[in-house]
Amino acid sequence: MSTAAGGPGTAAAGGAAAGAAARDGASGGHGTGDAAHGDRGSGGGGPGGRTSAWPPLNELALARGEVDRSGHLRTDEAWLAAAWANPDTRVIVVEGGRAMIGLTDGKTWLWTCPPAEAPDGVRFLLGVDEDGVAYFGVAGMLPAPPEPEVRAVSLRVAGPLLSDRDAGLLTHAVALGNWHETFTHCPRCGARTEPFASGHARRCPVDGSEHFPRVDPAMIVLVTDSADRCLLARNSAWPVNRVSILAGFVEAGESAEQTVAREVHEETGIVVGDVCYLGSQPWPMPQSLMLGFRALVTGAAEITVDDEEIVEANWYSREDLRIAVAEGRLLLPPPVSIAHRIIESWYGAELPGTW
Ligand SMILES: [Zn+2]
Repeated sequence: MSTAAGGPGTAAAGGAAAGAAARDGASGGHGTGDAAHGDRGSGGGGPGGRTSAWPPLNELALARGEVDRSGHLRTDEAWLAAAWANPDTRVIVVEGGRAMIGLTDGKTWLWTCPPAEAPDGVRFLLGVDEDGVAYFGVAGMLPAPPEPEVRAVSLRVAGPLLSDRDAGLLTHAVALGNWHETFTHCPRCGARTEPFASGHARRCPVDGSEHFPRVDPAMIVLVTDSADRCLLARNSAWPVNRVSILAGFVEAGESAEQTVAREVHEETGIVVGDVCYLGSQPWPMPQSLMLGFRALVTGAAEITVDDEEIVEANWYSREDLRIAVAEGRLLLPPPVSIAHRIIESWYGAELPGTW
């Protein structure tokens, strides 16, 4: 059901997987990776024949973070007031999914300000680090660049370049900022809701109903056939040479594993089983959580694309993929995406080429 005409979010479903790829200007010089998949052999994944665990995913850019979220402090008004009055407290301002990012001597860093310099806007506690420094987010107007090397950058672009701490803070702040910017009114009575729990919830002043940040689970899956070839597809909204693995939103009353089987069948006609969970990454653009899987063909293997969301899909061996990317015939998702990491885990090395 992740066809394009669907509800809010469907376009983003692919977006999660693929929109990232389509819009992201991220580039990265990655070496060619033709050396590293020697020990995997082919044909190791025949229908129902998986014998060992899939390799783990390499670093997921937006699934990092080392600051304690300190949930127990979100309703401690005395502590919150003291933290906000402390000039050592750091504030991350987010607006429209962007924050102020600095680049100095090749290092990318998250610009923060003391509370006294923060703009008006919904405030939320992000956490407290090991040194006792408190971090808040504010969904408000971004300042003019405070230093020449600082500018407004999206999470999608900045996320992979930041340290673990800063990437985690920014992902958290953007997710909450997007929610506060969008979900402003009570779904029951239409009244404007008010933040509470230090910006981690909203409450309706009329009927008292409480509302929590919305996260839309979406699955993304790498399908392999009996020759251990990988299924890559092109979304109708993408440029001609852009491909990725399949993705779609989890529907109401559906498990993520059921979503995998349904979406793969709807979009390509292929029947899969042996669905195996790999890992997850928040994708708050604006509000998804990507759940990564692998699956094997266990029934029909002939590709019949739905021609709505997916206009082209093909099987690729590792060698097919390496050559197609090297020749510029295929463009893969950028490293910030979980799609990239899942394809890489199948490929067995850093993916070749640039994107
Ligand atoms: Zn209400």
